Amino acid sequence: MEKLRPGKRGYPVWRMIKETAFVLMAAVLLSPLCFFADISAEEQDGQSHDAAFAETQTGSSTCYEIFVYSFRDSDGDRIGDLDGVKEELDYICGKGEDSLGCDMIWLMPVFPSPTYHKYDVTDYEQIDPQYGTLEDMESLLSACHERGVRLILDLPLNHTSTAHPWFTEAEEYIKSLENGQEGSAEDCPYIDFYNFSLEKQDGFEPLEDTGWYYEARFWAGMPDLNLDNEAVRDEIARILSFWQEKGVDGFRLDAVTSYYTQSKEKSISFVEWLTETAKAFDPDCYLVGEAWTDQDTYLQYYESGIDSMFDFAFAGQEGVIASVARGNKQAAWYGQRLVEEEEKLEEYGGLAVNAPFYTNHDMARSAGYYPNDGGARTKFAWALNLLMPGNAFLYYGEEIGMNGSGKDENKRAPMRWDEDPSASGMCKGPDDMDAVSMIYPALKEQEGDPSSVFSCVKKAIGLRQEYPAIAGGKTILVEKLSGKEICTLIRTMEGEKSILMVINASQNDQLVDLSVLEEEAEASAILRNKDSLTLTPYAIALLAEGEEDWVYLNEGCVLPEKSGRRRR
Ligand code: CA
Repeated sequence: MEKLRPGKRGYPVWRMIKETAFVLMAAVLLSPLCFFADISAEEQDGQSHDAAFAETQTGSSTCYEIFVYSFRDSDGDRIGDLDGVKEELDYICGKGEDSLGCDMIWLMPVFPSPTYHKYDVTDYEQIDPQYGTLEDMESLLSACHERGVRLILDLPLNHTSTAHPWFTEAEEYIKSLENGQEGSAEDCPYIDFYNFSLEKQDGFEPLEDTGWYYEARFWAGMPDLNLDNEAVRDEIARILSFWQEKGVDGFRLDAVTSYYTQSKEKSISFVEWLTETAKAFDPDCYLVGEAWTDQDTYLQYYESGIDSMFDFAFAGQEGVIASVARGNKQAAWYGQRLVEEEEKLEEYGGLAVNAPFYTNHDMARSAGYYPNDGGARTKFAWALNLLMPGNAFLYYGEEIGMNGSGKDENKRAPMRWDEDPSASGMCKGPDDMDAVSMIYPALKEQEGDPSSVFSCVKKAIGLRQEYPAIAGGKTILVEKLSGKEICTLIRTMEGEKSILMVINASQNDQLVDLSVLEEEAEASAILRNKDSLTLTPYAIALLAEGEEDWVYLNEGCVLPEKSGRRRR
């Protein structure tokens, strides 16, 4: 394929290609011959795949993040694997009663690596033997595509492992040099794959038994790649197309702010190169970047043309959602921040799709934020996250309120399918994990219980799919009915039912007087003469335009009585 030149900002070349492809696809679909032709199984796969893609682009996907090591073991070694993920596709993305109903999967790194977490890669074009084989990956991909589910891979490109052959060859070459002798890339190209130096610099580690240092911002075992080197970029382009050819639908870009630690502009321009390279091969490729930093900074990465950036402002123990759930911020703040963020995203020409999440593999699990309230705020907070516009990301185990904090291993504990840790399919988890006593029961005990964390998360995902305005629409804050305890929002989307959401962020029942909304055109059109609403603590009520009945999330929470004081 001819190498594409970067397009003008706001109208990149890959968008034009995508739109042309869309017109061609539409022409084929509309061709009258199609109506009479037998549709082969492959064509059906293709269609469901396209449908899933369309959802991602409008920003209405729900993506399940999986740490393969701890998710599901298929062969009895108690280490999770790709076949284990495949076995659980019904759970992750099926439509059944005990299914979550996600439509995208992000696998944390699956490439060979000396560590349990595998963020330090030794071969970008293989599968770690602990997880399976390339064939297992191909088989998982086709199983996903048969269901219209997209699969994205975690790609750590800032650094490799020191055990990567690029690094070991460079190290061997440097050790062969005389003291103080400068190396030459003509003799060993790999010395320019990393940033080696004879001087000790900030963020550099000593190369053992030599007078040399190498850049390693995260840890001595993770040498930073020299991303300015064309040869490195050629390798990366090949890695992207290697996986795209296998059918991988996109990539989660690890640690984008570290690409060029000293220069945000250079990091953004590298993300732009990655996006253009990936989309030149497959215009449908979905890219989401991790920039664990303040909102203004990570939003700037949308200048690169990347589809999504993770929305750190709403996530974690100190984020918008947890602050509102804890009562540190008033309820209305959730709506205010949403509106403000959507305005900022619009500055990127409507191409940016937000990627809200609540926790990930680097954060303390959310159930531990509110340990003694019977699940009321754990469920409430997940509902707030899943009601956000964009592609929402859910970290495995959060849907059953697993807890785990402190060292990283504790945040990556085995998925609790069953109370019995030796039950079939259960994983052993990382070696250095502490014994964590769980607050909520295993999945098996939560299924079918309408008050469980699982049921609330599942219901919220179902609402995202039933009402496209929830995930794909624009937020209006109804200020007349938003304050300390209540937040009222309308989500609108062209061609879809508008949704009114009333959120009770307090631990008390709230009788909401809706009559104050008579003068508000958007709200009264949805309300149609409803004049009041009662919300139990931390409950959320949704009303869709043209429908009679409210839908409730997290209603009827039973809050434990405070010691020495009776509620009610
Ligand atoms: Ca296994």
